[in-house]
Amino acid sequence: MAKDKKGVRLEHISKIYKDPKTGKDFYAVHDTSLDIEPGSFVTLLGPSGCGKTTTLRMIAGFESPDEGEIYLGNEAINALTPNKRDTAMVFQSYALLPHYNIFDNVAYGLKIRKVPKEEIKERVTKILELVQLSGMESRMTNQLSGGQQQRVALARALVIEPSVLLFDEPLSNLDAKLRVSMRTEIRRIQQEVGITAVYVTHDQSEAMAISDKIIIMNKGKIAQMGTPEEIYYQPNDEFVADFIGEVNFLRGKMKEARGEYAVIDVDGNDIIVKNSEKLMIGENYTAVLRPEAATLADCGGVPCRVILSCFMGSYQNYHVMVGNTLVKLEEHNPKNKKIYKVGDTCSLVFAPESVHVL
Ligand code: ATP
Repeated sequence: MAKDKKGVRLEHISKIYKDPKTGKDFYAVHDTSLDIEPGSFVTLLGPSGCGKTTTLRMIAGFESPDEGEIYLGNEAINALTPNKRDTAMVFQSYALLPHYNIFDNVAYGLKIRKVPKEEIKERVTKILELVQLSGMESRMTNQLSGGQQQRVALARALVIEPSVLLFDEPLSNLDAKLRVSMRTEIRRIQQEVGITAVYVTHDQSEAMAISDKIIIMNKGKIAQMGTPEEIYYQPNDEFVADFIGEVNFLRGKMKEARGEYAVIDVDGNDIIVKNSEKLMIGENYTAVLRPEAATLADCGGVPCRVILSCFMGSYQNYHVMVGNTLVKLEEHNPKNKKIYKVGDTCSLVFAPESVHVL
């Protein structure tokens, strides 16, 4: 359906606002460059105030950058107003026309673009099929559930056949279960249409589930851009590691090299990690260990003491101490495994390859 797939490129973009409290200027977005491939689904993720929405609004044209240039395909678009940009935005608030029915809401953007009546009917019908609202054309939007309203909002954006679809926390107003099913729907529709999508959320599981690439933002800058797997398994720094999923940080000095492995001394315990060439004896490192990547055993690993053991259904949640370092574990499928109790001393076992060293 999309005419041609276009990517989005930001080159050294900055946005300066005035802090209302201090009256001083600050960078909401600072010297940000990124390249979004045509047809891909990219999510901007980060804590409140990190500059996600400002970045999205600059792509849409609702805000203009103070520095840098934005490109849609090969076209520089800084000077274009939002309606000239070949983008469409789906808002958190849905932004539907309250006194119109579903058909007229979806048709609105085509009417103001003076599309012939017959073609409007055809395109609206097709889009309503895509978002699974066929047969509901005459329902007023105030008679719809939140999920249905969001589908109308999505249809309104898609019907004008933009090259890029922008989403500003579109699922925030829905309950948890509906959010999960709608995010799958959004991904299905994006893939079916083959459109480029830029999506803002502060929900990390939403970002993981929906995206080809995730951009983690922190204080107006990009902390990391990568596939969900790269972000999860090879975070650039502690901020990224901590922001996405649960994590343990094992801090210590490299003691020795053992072939392709390195030994890091964490509170007097030897932690074996895969040695990449960058590791140097005597230097301090942080090993990132995900809770599901380790298990408890009677022996054969790093000595530890259990301080919490809690049945969670699909996993047993443990907190153990390795020296003075707290390590959180998730032992999945615990039914037929030995369950350790608080106070037990045992062994923390993990493959060196499952640790990422910062
Ligand atoms: P959230 O998840 O809370 O929406 P965000 O990452 O989307 O956060 P932005 O809305 O982009 O963050 O805001 C970035 C920073 O810029 C914040 O400190 C915010 O308070 C500030 N800001 C946003 N819009 C304006 C404005 N119009 N005037 C002044 N400051 C602004």
